[in-house]
Amino acid sequence: MVSRIIPVAPFDLVIFGGTGDLAQRKILPALFRRHCAGQLPGSEWIIGAARAGLSCADYRNIVATALREHCGPRGVDDAELTSFLSRVSYVALDGMGTQGWEELAAQLRPSAEVPVRLFYFSVGPALFAPLAERLHSHGLTNGDTRIVVEKPFGRDLQTAKALNRTLASHFDEGQIYRIDHYLGKETVQNLMAVRFGNMLFEPLWNSQYVDHIQITVAETVGIEGREDYYERSGAMRDMMQNHLMQLLCLIAMEPPAKFDPDAVRDEKLKVIRALDPVEPHHIVRGQYQARQAAEGGAQAHPSYRDTVGNPRSRTESYVALKAHISNWRWAGTPFYLRTGKRLVARSSVINVMFKDAPHSIFGAEAGRHANHLKIRLQPNEGITLSVTIKEPGQGGMRLIDVPLDMSFAEALGEEGGTPPDAYERLIMDVVRGDQTLFMRGDEVEAAWAWTDPIIAGWEARGDVPKPYDSGSTGPGDADLLMRRDGREWRGINP
Ligand code: NAP
Repeated sequence: MVSRIIPVAPFDLVIFGGTGDLAQRKILPALFRRHCAGQLPGSEWIIGAARAGLSCADYRNIVATALREHCGPRGVDDAELTSFLSRVSYVALDGMGTQGWEELAAQLRPSAEVPVRLFYFSVGPALFAPLAERLHSHGLTNGDTRIVVEKPFGRDLQTAKALNRTLASHFDEGQIYRIDHYLGKETVQNLMAVRFGNMLFEPLWNSQYVDHIQITVAETVGIEGREDYYERSGAMRDMMQNHLMQLLCLIAMEPPAKFDPDAVRDEKLKVIRALDPVEPHHIVRGQYQARQAAEGGAQAHPSYRDTVGNPRSRTESYVALKAHISNWRWAGTPFYLRTGKRLVARSSVINVMFKDAPHSIFGAEAGRHANHLKIRLQPNEGITLSVTIKEPGQGGMRLIDVPLDMSFAEALGEEGGTPPDAYERLIMDVVRGDQTLFMRGDEVEAAWAWTDPIIAGWEARGDVPKPYDSGSTGPGDADLLMRRDGREWRGINP
């Protein structure tokens, strides 16, 4: 069942921000797991870069500690760790200044020897342009160089365009990998496999048969540790413009002619460009309230406003909206999107709600039954199709809805049950030079062009987010958004 692992080509990888949170929690563990799986060639060279004056031995200690902490329940095998660390080094470097660049150049192997050279920008966005400029001016790039750019990619259309222009002055679009880790999730890729690999769904995948689609990305965590960034960003910029937009694209796009980077991204771009502007009364913003320790034994935590230290903050920690895609396939089928912090459960789910059968031969007493396809991205990745059947037993024709459930953990056995982390997949794609699961510059700009007027409208109206209880499903107005249309959100389940 498990796919064969083909080692990637030798590469040099520089992680700018190699001591940071993302590098320690995601990037280095992803590399280590691929190393243990036998996918790294054994001749890779991984260089952490940051300003801190660390020796190579210091950095290896940091990496070892991070791997022990973040590599999951199976732990870290000492022999694997030693061999992985022997491929790791460190350079103290200032991405905004001049220090360290000669040392970095000295550590990189000649392009003729190792042509694939990756630079991962795991640093704050203010460093993206300076890093690109310095890589170029120090002659560290070649035709096979790839840069990986973390989110946020701009904070509006203007800044995204400016960043695209700077990157484009030093790199071809084919060298720029704008990462959205949602696209690396196994189920997200499965979404394309389910849609375009089966005859079953695609004929029904349109407004004639689909009543509406719900996309929910719910988190239980707050914004602690990211207060400054989040207060300037909010859920719309932090989640909706990128992660939910990408999920919307994959659900709504036309079948690409082939599974190749530009064919897929062309179709996603068409979806974004076909999105109607969102009416102000089709959006609900929320902000979480404090929680007391006594409630259900749950941990106490401060309100959003107390967390950011701004009692008048108007930044949303929750947003729900109704979107319309004006094209032949989706005219008349609304897409309801919601995302928020401090909600009742951590859950990322897409629900495709099909229409009722046109006529019930079983009479009104059989009730209303419509199929729905639930795609769980996390936790417990899998896909469930609910179908209507007869309730077993005597007593007439009573109908019930039952799930046809494909949990990847159960269906694919032990190995399939622990799908690789999104970063594993995405970093290997960068090494292979496959951009299919990365955002193209025009996609990012189109997403900002749709998002900007929404945010500008809030600012112009002085819109204040609705308070909602921590541990709830969000503000009541989000339920009203649905009920006005005679619909209900599906529950947010773990
Ligand atoms: P972080 O923990 O603050 O780490 C920042 C890293 O950048 C540190 O290694 C820091 O080390 C280095 N750095 C800062 N200024 C530098 C400079 N002038 N030159 C060279 N290195 C410098 O940040 P993070 O959470 O890892 O986030 C990194 C990026 O990933 C951000 O763009 C963030 O938005 C994005 N991201 C993070 C997460 C996450 O879960 N953490 C998720 C999605 C996206 P020194 O201070 O020693 O230089």
